[in-house]
Amino acid sequence: MSIPQGDPYADLEWAADDFAPPPDEFEPPPDYAWGAPGPVAPAALAPRARDFTGVPAREILREVFGYDDFRGDQADVVDHVIGGGDAVVLMPTGGGKSITYQVPALARPGTGLVVSPLIALMHDQVDALVANGVRAAYLNSTQGPAERQTVEQAFLAGELDLLYVAPERLSAAATTSLLQRGRLSVIAIDEAHCVSQWGHDFRPDYLALGDLAERFPGVPRMALTATATRETHRELTQRLDLPTARHFVASFDRPNIQYRIEAKNEPRKQLVSFIRSIDAGSGAGIVYALSRKSVEQTAEYLRTQGIDALPYHAGLDASLRAANQSRFLRDDGVVMVATIAFGMGIDKPDVRFVAHIDLPKSVEGYYQETGRAGRDGDPAVAWMAYGLGDVVQQRRLIDQSPGDRGFKTRLGQHLDAMLALCETVGCRRQNLLGYFGQDSTPCGNCDTCLQPPETFDGTVAAQKLMSTIVRLQRERNQAFGAGQLIDILRGNKTDRVTQQRHDELKTFGIGADLSEQDWRGVVRQLLATSLLVARGEYGTLALGDSASDVLRGERQVLLRRDVLGRRGPTSVRRTTVSEAVDPGDRDLFEALRTWRASAAREQGVPAYVVFNDATLRALAASRPSSSADLDGISGIGAKKRETYGEAVLAVIAAA
Ligand code: ADP
Ligand code: ZN
Repeated sequence: MSIPQGDPYADLEWAADDFAPPPDEFEPPPDYAWGAPGPVAPAALAPRARDFTGVPAREILREVFGYDDFRGDQADVVDHVIGGGDAVVLMPTGGGKSITYQVPALARPGTGLVVSPLIALMHDQVDALVANGVRAAYLNSTQGPAERQTVEQAFLAGELDLLYVAPERLSAAATTSLLQRGRLSVIAIDEAHCVSQWGHDFRPDYLALGDLAERFPGVPRMALTATATRETHRELTQRLDLPTARHFVASFDRPNIQYRIEAKNEPRKQLVSFIRSIDAGSGAGIVYALSRKSVEQTAEYLRTQGIDALPYHAGLDASLRAANQSRFLRDDGVVMVATIAFGMGIDKPDVRFVAHIDLPKSVEGYYQETGRAGRDGDPAVAWMAYGLGDVVQQRRLIDQSPGDRGFKTRLGQHLDAMLALCETVGCRRQNLLGYFGQDSTPCGNCDTCLQPPETFDGTVAAQKLMSTIVRLQRERNQAFGAGQLIDILRGNKTDRVTQQRHDELKTFGIGADLSEQDWRGVVRQLLATSLLVARGEYGTLALGDSASDVLRGERQVLLRRDVLGRRGPTSVRRTTVSEAVDPGDRDLFEALRTWRASAAREQGVPAYVVFNDATLRALAASRPSSSADLDGISGIGAKKRETYGEAVLAVIAAA
């Protein structure tokens, strides 16, 4: 369809009041996150533990980690790698990937090398391993020369079970030669999707990991990730040079996470009422926002509402960031309001919700971010509020992004998939899993399953809107954003409408049958399906390529009606963590939690490094009275029994 264009920007207006601040405030892609400070603790070398070389995997699992049995694919992966095979492991967050390289690292002679992208991640993993009596350490830029030397010598002396390094460190010749002088049992490449150049989280340093086979012949290699479309899976296998690897692809489903996406109206108020609707117990929450300013304002607002919220973004002072992160990890019930700079490597198991107040750029990103909820398997919620402004803003960011056309096209595809998820009238989980190439049936634990959205035939509404756009262009040589168009359609005689004489347009007032909110929904959904396009800094609206089909009546437009306040008491299952504890055991559970908090504080580690909630629940339920009774309890291995056994038994005896 050809429409005389003129100068569409001759007369601009703000399109929507929920427009975001200018792009320079947005968080850049998180390359800098490499060096993001974690809770800086010196790499502790654990005392010499039993030598597990050659010990059966299940015995290691029991004695070191305190788990009865492997889950899912774990046993197969572990056997395969202990036998010397390469492996590509795709498992959802919380699926238990760490065990799959940690057990082989112990069972095979030598040190397991773990390539991990983020310093915070190394610190946490090393803390957790040391707590289990495993000799683990890391080499990274937070260490002084003396500490680094201690670690290097321990490695060369064969006194390390696991060594964590960042990928950029591995490309240094000195590191290669150090590692070649010692003995490696296995090489595990964590967050392996970072090698994918077309994925959402590319890290250039990962490309150098392609020649590890040449540098360390005979050492089995593993690539692990929780996020990979089929394409990313293929790409990482090739780039990491794993042609003969066995592939272990677990279901990506996270059934304990409830997905909810609602139309954005007053995002901060919606956020507060969402947070209040969650019984998070002692668990934490994460709120993702796109801009740094929005992070700070939202954290501030939540605090005025009595919610213990902290900000986190890459523009904050490093020491403040580290302090906020460590409060999030260590204290109960903290809500972290953050940009995407926060989260990778945060394996806090009891995050009860992840909220998005802005639209993420891709489904991979969204799935990874929401995946940080409920790692412990207990109920958790992924909630998002998304609106018209988000769509316009994301399209603008893509337009303005550096990079060639192919790159922008790719970004556009990522966004389209994200929008399709937001606008689906079907099951959210089905849509998500489908994106990762997995078939499933409606889940019964997402907003659209629990309360199927009302839909209506929006063809006429779309035609009314489109012809208003066409008339403005043809008759006035003007282009406007959503706000003014909706005023025209609804027949609102605002000052701007009268000044512009828009009340003389033929389409003035022809859309009074729909509410302002419904019209916003119409615009948003037409943008999401590219029937409309937003242009320029102000998001003025123009017709998309296939709009003419709709105008001619050859294409039907089915739309969701935005019903706000859908979160009635019957609409969603309440997520209650303390419900998982038997009423009769609750006092003991609380007493154990209090003890755990003080033990964690004393040792300067997060509470879950001492014991996770599941272990405390098991203790409260079975009330062991002797050290031998502790044996069957999930999460208590030999080392933890020795460290905490007496204290725990005392708490139980006193209850
Ligand atoms: P991922 O790295 O895949 O996100 P983790 O390795 O952090 O997952 O494991 C998630 C949680 O499940 C952790 O708390 C871990 O201790 C626990 N876990 C892993 N394997 C087992 C198992 N076989 N039995 C019980 N708990 C397990
Ligand atoms: Zn569903």
